[in-house]
Amino acid sequence: MLKEKVALITGSTSGIGLATAHVLAQQGINLVLHGLVSATEGQALANDFIAQYGINAIFDDADLQDVASIERLITKAISTMGSVDILVNNAGIQHTQSAESFPLEKWNAIIAINLSAAFHAIQFALPAMKRQGWGRIINVASVHGLVGSVNKSAYCAAKHGLVGLTKVLALECAEQGITVNAICPGWVDTPLINDQISAIAKQQDSSFEQAKYQLVTAKQPLPEMMAPAQIGEFILFLCSDSAKSITGAALPMDGAWTAQ
Ligand code: NAD
Repeated sequence: MLKEKVALITGSTSGIGLATAHVLAQQGINLVLHGLVSATEGQALANDFIAQYGINAIFDDADLQDVASIERLITKAISTMGSVDILVNNAGIQHTQSAESFPLEKWNAIIAINLSAAFHAIQFALPAMKRQGWGRIINVASVHGLVGSVNKSAYCAAKHGLVGLTKVLALECAEQGITVNAICPGWVDTPLINDQISAIAKQQDSSFEQAKYQLVTAKQPLPEMMAPAQIGEFILFLCSDSAKSITGAALPMDGAWTAQ
């Protein structure tokens, strides 16, 4: 059912996005890979996917802070690949600092990349999805789309916003064969969180691994990081026919973080 559909995954040069690309490619889903790496590196990545899975894959390095670049990304994806059937709004950044001293340019970048880019991508991708009467939109939010944590004002604001956006789009697309969901992971082992681990290691004069364990267990009862591919498998399920009635949901995958 999913073979030969086209998935565009923002931020698929690293972490959760890259792992999701592998999970979807294993099912024969064609890919629009995307992220902030050089064109040469991105093309090499696309070539690897083509060789490894026998799928069609292209790469684009659109900066998601720029609306015109997002429009070009979606237009190129549809014209080159024929459609965007699955849109995974995954790219994101983090910066931790108290709200009182949070730098304005960090606030603007986090809101632009973690929230507004998803809105723009959906807006540009939706007309073609509606015409074909089938689509899957998955927004990679966070447990911080459901609860707050100190020093994460911009990230929490963006992720809560992404959850709200998800609900509205699900309502607007309910009769169009398009589902719209948000996944809300706890700690996932990716480069995004390395700065937070390093800060703890420095502060406590502990090893990176000790600091990592401390970070995970501070709020997440399940005392281990998730592997990025686990999020990819969840995304694959949401793309399946079995998940066609799941829409408008903010789905925690958080080791009981929000059960408390
Ligand atoms: P990552 O740092 O490994 O990957 C981020 C990706 O986003 C990269 O491909 C990068 O090139 C891309 N990106 C960043 N800024 C961009 C920009 N301006 N334009 C275009 N692309 C840009 O991070 P990750 O942990 O895989 O994060 C993926 C998503 O998962 C993010 O939205 C993040 O908030 C969310 N998330 C992560 C965790 C975690 O613990 N790692 C937990 C919950 C949610």
